[in-house]
Amino acid sequence: MKKEKNELEKQLTMERKNASLLMDDAEIQKAEEFCKGYMEFMASAKTEREINIYAIEKAKKAGFKEFHFGDKIKAGDKIYYDNRGKSVILAVIGSEPIANGVNLTAAHIDSPRLDLKENPLYESEEIALFKTHYYGGIKKYQWTTVPLSLHGVIFKQDGEKVVVNIGEDEGDPVFVVSDLLPHLAQDQMKRASSDLIKGEELNIIVGSYCMKGEGINKRVKTNILRILNEKYGIVERDLLSAELEAVPAYKPKEIGFDRGLIGAYGHDDKVCAYPELMAILDIKKPKKTAVAILTDKEETGSDGNTGLASSYLKYFLEDIAETLGSNGRTVMSNSRCLSADVNSAFDPTFPEVFERNNSSFLNYGVVVTKFTGHRGKGGTSDANAEYVAEIHHLFDNEKVIWQNGELGRVDLGGGGTVALYMANLNIETIDVGVPVLAMHAPFEMVSKLDTYMAYKAFYVFQK
Ligand code: MN
Ligand code: MN
Repeated sequence: MKKEKNELEKQLTMERKNASLLMDDAEIQKAEEFCKGYMEFMASAKTEREINIYAIEKAKKAGFKEFHFGDKIKAGDKIYYDNRGKSVILAVIGSEPIANGVNLTAAHIDSPRLDLKENPLYESEEIALFKTHYYGGIKKYQWTTVPLSLHGVIFKQDGEKVVVNIGEDEGDPVFVVSDLLPHLAQDQMKRASSDLIKGEELNIIVGSYCMKGEGINKRVKTNILRILNEKYGIVERDLLSAELEAVPAYKPKEIGFDRGLIGAYGHDDKVCAYPELMAILDIKKPKKTAVAILTDKEETGSDGNTGLASSYLKYFLEDIAETLGSNGRTVMSNSRCLSADVNSAFDPTFPEVFERNNSSFLNYGVVVTKFTGHRGKGGTSDANAEYVAEIHHLFDNEKVIWQNGELGRVDLGGGGTVALYMANLNIETIDVGVPVLAMHAPFEMVSKLDTYMAYKAFYVFQK
């Protein structure tokens, strides 16, 4: 039995409590409602391009107007900047001078998945398959025998854009990567587990019927090309100018008898992106300009012109700064940011990789993470203590349930977020996000209460 703490111990020590004990029924109900919306979102938008479209549609309905560099803006304006259909910045212009800085939130909308190779289609033993190159850090064996849907775009030789989304609707076929039957897996099971399924074994089955007729060499492949031509008007060559992503085809589900958790593909980082989007849509008349970034390419290191290592955010901030009579360096130097990304939740089945006092737990609220990185904090932005205190006070005052948490034990691995890209622009930045179980797996888990607390955290930060 745990003994009651005496008065002095109570005063001096820190205690964490489960959000399901701290929240009253009315607030738990609010969290339930919020998560209904989240689950609908997760079922309908799975890739960066689809989330970009979703965010812009919602923003337009809430009165946001498309912004181009050089456009005139004023206090009260709601704008969005669409970066190539794969990342988007939303902003509500504040009443204070922009020189005082802006309040940014930044989440990523790409998730680990299987990307098709440039020339993906081949036939082997009268089965048609797609070659893939996995995207982001995955345990490759987890992606076999999972129903997959295909999402993306194909640009035809005449420039026409074809949008692909197949495998999500009830009547759609799905696609799958095979795995070896245990009866014949004796040698496979002796492989190092990192090679249990090798990169070149992540081949997606896309067809098996032969095409009838004379003089056809590859009957299954040709039949698939015939179907693709009928459906999309494309020929094989067009696949060279495509971005096709295979992701788990299933919908989000509630988990457990109490339905407290949500299982879905891609919580990392949609479980921060969705609350961030909902928060900025709810911002009415902020004093400081509120800026929400939904970015691409985090899972591959943020490089490329739609990732946050590029200058698109800097250019956006410089442009609105100048339009509103200041300059980029002043605005960025006075700005602050919540880098909204997930953290690893303590897993009771694998306690050995966590250090309890510095881990985040499901249902203990949003995680405030001072630093990320690998081995000796490599690659982290390490938030300044002054700013850490400011965020803790804000959350306490606004009754946002929060916890501290590092990814896992020192020197056991590590991970990064987009925090450093804002911090490198001289913006005060700290990681705040939702704890996730089984991160980067095809079916990840989060708590409803934590997801709602993320919304609350981003809202109070910008309101
Ligand atoms: Mn992430
Ligand atoms: Mn990730």
